[in-house]
Amino acid sequence: MSNEIEHAQDLHRRVSAFMQAHVYPAEAVIEAWDSDAAKRWQICPLIEELKSKARAQGLWNLFLPDAKHGAGLSNRSYAPLAELMGRSLIAPELFNCNAPDTGNMEVLHQFGSAEHQSRWLEPLLAGEIRSGFAMTEPDVASSDATNIALSIQRDGDELLLDGRKWWTTGAGDPRCRILIVMGVSNPENERHSRHSMVLVPMDTPGVRVVRPLTVFGYDDAPYGHVELAFEQVRVPASNLIGTPGSGFAIAQARLGPGRIHHCMRLIGLAQRSLEMMLERARNRVAFGRPLGGHGMAQEAIALSRCEIEQARLLTLHAAAELDRVGNRGAKDLIGMIKIVAPRMACTVIDRAIQMHGGAGLAQDRFLARAYAGARSLRIADGPDEVHLSALARSMLKASA
Ligand SMILES: Cc1cc2nc3c(=O)[nH]c(=O)nc-3n(C[C@H](O)[C@H](O)[C@H](O)COP(=O)(O)OP(=O)(O)OC[C@H]3O[C@@H](n4cnc5c(N)ncnc54)[C@H](O)[C@@H]3O)c2cc1C
Repeated sequence: MSNEIEHAQDLHRRVSAFMQAHVYPAEAVIEAWDSDAAKRWQICPLIEELKSKARAQGLWNLFLPDAKHGAGLSNRSYAPLAELMGRSLIAPELFNCNAPDTGNMEVLHQFGSAEHQSRWLEPLLAGEIRSGFAMTEPDVASSDATNIALSIQRDGDELLLDGRKWWTTGAGDPRCRILIVMGVSNPENERHSRHSMVLVPMDTPGVRVVRPLTVFGYDDAPYGHVELAFEQVRVPASNLIGTPGSGFAIAQARLGPGRIHHCMRLIGLAQRSLEMMLERARNRVAFGRPLGGHGMAQEAIALSRCEIEQARLLTLHAAAELDRVGNRGAKDLIGMIKIVAPRMACTVIDRAIQMHGGAGLAQDRFLARAYAGARSLRIADGPDEVHLSALARSMLKASA
């Protein structure tokens, strides 16, 4: 255990140094690349350069508890590292710790066959390709995953897929080669065993990118959140992950660590926004004194620190419980932090935007984009209401 703590502390020092030396200075370069309409759906070469550097320093796949393929850290030990990476919108990918690839790698690691692992997991772990997770559909309320309707039919040695997905994050990336697609394979079963997960290579005939979606106008190029059509798509039956009807269970297993990783990163995003707030409060003078000399600005600063710290402690507690009792045992705490962290981050970033005045909303500060990301997470990976409702039901059941 003490070895793991020392290992995690050493990684924390090294990730922090890497952020200072390489990540923060790269932000403006990548921002400039992304604002060039001709290049924005291509990959800025600096990204691959920094990935190679991080990998060479062993700052790679830190999220994966498996020591052979990843850093071998518990969720509790990984949390402060994810918080550091969450401070920059470009950082998680540079350490190969970005969603949705992390969750997809975990699915392949846990449930993939030897063939799936050599064909898709290995290049994902190496950061050579990227992936998407296609569950949500435009035509059904996808916060209730049992509604998912894309059809998966067995036809001899093949599976035939038909349907439509949207909000598939990462599917706009030119390096995205593989999708994990959820659909109905066993309609006769009870509703939690009707779905399966299937691996669909992006270049399979019948997979069509309909359009990229935007969040408050941000398209998140070159990764994107994409609407996809699956029109008579055929893949080998061996592309099924796990057993027929196990899709719902795999989705639940995927979302436990995935949700908490998002929350860890949001703590970092909020912390950096608070630091920007402080900088602004010290240096911007209005009505004869720095903003920080005004009581209302002081309140915004002090409340933000309290709220970040509360969320950080809840994240660490949930991560420790996830390690101790697993996904199912820690589900209430994971739900709690999924409710708390995005709301906290939205509030803190909103205060930082307010203290920056017009500059807070402009494209040359990262706050507006950070807000869009934090706001998305009140919906993505399950809307607040779903987690609130599950938490309340669990408490009511326990006290019955
Ligand atoms: C930026 C972004 C990235 C995403 N990335 C992915 C991805 O990579 N892959 C993927 O498959 N999906 C992705 N999603 C989709 C996301 O997971 C879904 O949008 C989310 O699960 C909600 O599903 P829905 O949009 O169908 O909303 P609906 O199910 O239609 O729900 C709409 C609203 O109804 C309310 N509601 C729902 N249930 C309840 C309840 N029990 N009680 C009270 N109110 C309720 C909530 O307010 C909810 O927001 C992403 C979304 C965003 C915004």
